[in-house]
Order: sequence, then C-alpha cells, then structure tokens
Amino acid sequence: MKKLSTIVAGAAVGLLALTACGQEGTPDAGGGEGAAEAPEYTVAEDVDLSDSPTWESADSSGTLKVGVKKDQPGLGNVEPGSDIPEGFDIEIAKITAAALGFAPDDIEWVETVSANREPFLQQGNVDMIVATYTINDERKKVVDFAGPYYVAGQDLLVAEDSDISSPDDIAGKRVCSVDGSTPAQNIEEEYSEAELVTYDAYSKCVTDLQSGSVDAVTTDDAILRGYAAQYEGEFKVVGDPFTEEPYGVGLPKDDDALRDAVNDALEASMEDGTWTEAFEYTLGDSSGVEQPSVDRY
Ligand code: GLU
Repeated sequence: MKKLSTIVAGAAVGLLALTACGQEGTPDAGGGEGAAEAPEYTVAEDVDLSDSPTWESADSSGTLKVGVKKDQPGLGNVEPGSDIPEGFDIEIAKITAAALGFAPDDIEWVETVSANREPFLQQGNVDMIVATYTINDERKKVVDFAGPYYVAGQDLLVAEDSDISSPDDIAGKRVCSVDGSTPAQNIEEEYSEAELVTYDAYSKCVTDLQSGSVDAVTTDDAILRGYAAQYEGEFKVVGDPFTEEPYGVGLPKDDDALRDAVNDALEASMEDGTWTEAFEYTLGDSSGVEQPSVDRY
C-alpha cells in the first residue's frame, strides 16, 4: 500500500479539508498531524443509465438521495454543530455518486438507522444506502446490494478495566446493540445467556456503557474502533471478531442496471487507488486491510 502522503499529494483542497484535522473519532485520525486533504472524485459526464428507474428519477430531480449513519465516527458521522457527514461510508457514497454523474453537492444525505434501511429502500425514501450495511440473504429478499467494499466483524466494546475478553464472557452480562442489526440478531441466536439491551442507534449504547448501565456494546469492529478512539482511555475493543460482516451498498430490489453500475464503480475504485485514498482519509492506515472482491450475484 502506498503511503498516505503519496496518495493525497495533488488532491485539490476542498472544503472538507478544513474538517479533516478534527476527526478524533477515527481509529487512526486519518494521518494525524497536518491531516490529509479531502479526496476529490471525478464526476462522470454524460452518464446514461436509462435502464435504471432509480437513476432516471434521481437524474431528473438532479439529486441522489443516499441513506447514511450519522453517529458512527470514522464511517458515517456528523460532528455536533455541523451538517456535513464524514467517514469511509460517506466517501464510498461520493465515489459511487461520482460514477453515476452526481457531484457531492447533488447528494442529499438522509439519516438511516439499522432497522429502517430496508423500508427506506422499499419505499423510495432513498436511492441507495451506504451505512455499515451487511449483505445477507435475508436482506436480499427485499433489497439488493452492490459490493462488498469492506469486510468487518462483530466485536465487543467494553470499559478499559473490564474482564470481558471474548464473547464467551458475556453470559449474564448486559450487552447493548441496535434493533434490526445483524449483531443484535446474533446475540439473540448464539449468545442467549447475555442480557440484550437494544436501541435504534449505537451512540445510545455508548452512552449506556459510559454510565455503566450496560457491560458491553456489540457491533462491527470498524464501528467500535471509532467509539474507542472517541473515548480514548475509557473504552477498549476486545479485538476478537466473531462474525464476518461484508458491507454492501444497499439498492432498491431488481434495479439491475444500477447494481451493475455501482459494482463497476466500486471495482474501479479498488483498482485505481481511490478506495485506498478514501480509506486512509477516514479510517487511517490501510496497509494490511483487505479489499474484498465485488460479488455480482
Ligand atoms: N453491519 C451490521 C448490520 O448491517 C451492523 C452495523 C449496523 O447496524 O449498521 O446490521
């Protein structure tokens, strides 16, 4: 993998560059001192995806509606006092949008929580979702996915002095996760001796962990690392991932032309270095991070 400084050299200074230095929530704070400049992606011109009903209607309105998380540092996050989302998912959304002919200013960022992602796609509230969204067969019954563009794994976030060091230690403990998420489902099915507490968003679990009213927060390691960085010295990620969570771009069902175009965009970004640029800008060092192969199911 190339070094961050090499990758971002020559990137145009964008408005987001101003916010890059404040990314305390990210696992590796995006390169530390003199933080990276915001990547810019070339917006494709003369895109014609008239076989895609979703693209057609976004094109005629001039706006692409993208569902994202807004409380997951490093992935999809909005800092207090700002309305600009930041994170790896946000960059993946911009990369995808650019390939479809939409500049960042043409994106409407719609907040989604885990449980409303399928209904939002089904009801047309959003054109696509980039929100730590695990591809699985159950979800594929009602929505489609492009990708994966990253593979996370379920893990545990605990207080720095906690004795919990693996999922085997959570029996009888209060463990917090989110409704409609794969980690919550996994706790119910595989670790039923844990006492599961759920909310609509992970930031609420983190507040509970801080007050001591739960013993652990469980979700993807990528998400938990963002919180651990935000609450440095208070929380730690156990670091024993026990599932695979391939992240996909959620799409309305059966819009095959759109799915092909998004898969093409993801694949190209992994080949031409923009994926790496996006990763390093938001999540930090990408050396040792595997790029998954797109699954054109
Ligand atoms: N990747 C998991 C899921 O899609 C957990 C993260 C989330 O809830 O967004 O359910």
